[in-house]
Amino acid sequence: MTDSPLFYQAGPTLPEVSHADGVTLWDTRGKAYLDGCSGAISCNLGHGRQDIRNAMLAQLDRVAFTYRTQFENAPALALGRALVELTDGALEKVFFVCSGSEAVESALKLARQYVVATDEPQRRRFVSLRPSYHGSTLGALGVTGYHPLEAPFTELTHASLKVAGPDFYRHQDADDDAHVDRVLAETRTAIEAAGPESIIAFILEPVGGASTGARLLGERYLKGIRALCDDVGCLLILDEVLTGLGRTGTWFAWQHYGVIPDLLVTAKGLGAGYYPVGALLARDDIVSKVMANGGFQHGHTYAGNPLACATGLAVIEAIRRERLLDNTRARGEQLEAGLRTLAERYPWVGHVRGLGLLWGVELVADPATRQPFPAGQNRFAQITALAKEEGLLIYPRRTLDGVAGDHFLVTPPLTIRAQEVGTLLERLGRAMARFDQALADEAGT
Ligand code: PMP
Repeated sequence: MTDSPLFYQAGPTLPEVSHADGVTLWDTRGKAYLDGCSGAISCNLGHGRQDIRNAMLAQLDRVAFTYRTQFENAPALALGRALVELTDGALEKVFFVCSGSEAVESALKLARQYVVATDEPQRRRFVSLRPSYHGSTLGALGVTGYHPLEAPFTELTHASLKVAGPDFYRHQDADDDAHVDRVLAETRTAIEAAGPESIIAFILEPVGGASTGARLLGERYLKGIRALCDDVGCLLILDEVLTGLGRTGTWFAWQHYGVIPDLLVTAKGLGAGYYPVGALLARDDIVSKVMANGGFQHGHTYAGNPLACATGLAVIEAIRRERLLDNTRARGEQLEAGLRTLAERYPWVGHVRGLGLLWGVELVADPATRQPFPAGQNRFAQITALAKEEGLLIYPRRTLDGVAGDHFLVTPPLTIRAQEVGTLLERLGRAMARFDQALADEAGT
């Protein structure tokens, strides 16, 4: 992903981080940055937390690593139980991994092993959305719908059937319900054309993350997809790598919609930036069938080690103790109101959307036609650089496949306080004013 002008061209001039505390990071020159995107939407508890540090040190003092075939370990058992509880018992089995890509990869492999175990080996394909992002390993890339990342690998990956999800900003249907119904009907037709008996699972994010700029899919669509999966006889995998562990104001985003997945993957917020840890959760009967058919043929060395699990456990305890789901909802409302006020000032803000503390702002060249800025103008990088100069980190994404404009995510730590949301909005407001001035200068006005 070094094609990003933020990464490659800005590389030599990237500031060097010195230290961090709460929602603030400092570089070695003493400049402070408010972390408006939780790193890569991962540092959900903010930086420099003593409770997480203490839990990790206590575990390090006992034992950091054990291998799963040699020892049971208490932190893994406790974290497994805690995660199952967070699903209200809907999913009963947990498999630990070290990253989001590994979690997705594991889900795809478990789903495939399930259809083999249930005498349906002809099921060989996944269905996923375009645009989407599910990770950078080859399997996860196969279900990812983003051409620049896919292009060199299409002959190596077992590409999924890609379908469009709802787009509540650009659709031309009579209303949102009619739009969802049309999208669902088209998806059904695409699956029927591909052969329903060939589909292993449908994978999607219940609330779009980085790839779509927090695009919402909504209850009608998600319930429709659940019903479609049941009709087709395939599994539903929800990718909550980014949305899991409270980002949208509930433990998992599907809990807003009452749509229960068969498999669920989560990562980023589980380690909260303190240690790489992720998990795949699955229904008991799925796992039992695979276990009865020779077991789950998959695993990574570092998965489920005591230090990783002690970290995840401390993160869940902190979210509970500090009532961070409540804070996410309250601060989310404050952030939404502020973003909408800013959006009203500038015609190039096409759309503001999100849930909890996951907000996306889409930029357009023409608000009437909703036409994105030309890709080569790299507006996402421009506004992100201006925000950084103003002491604010936001998470940028370039214009996508011609279907969405440049956008950025505002996703501060779930611990953010009201006054800090105010500071975030002030800094973003200054960056947006400068961006607006730059556009005016370019236009010669
Ligand atoms: N799925 C989603 C929805 C993601 O947002 C990401 C990371 N951006 C991944 C999978 C991959 O996670 P990782 O970078 O930890 O491999």
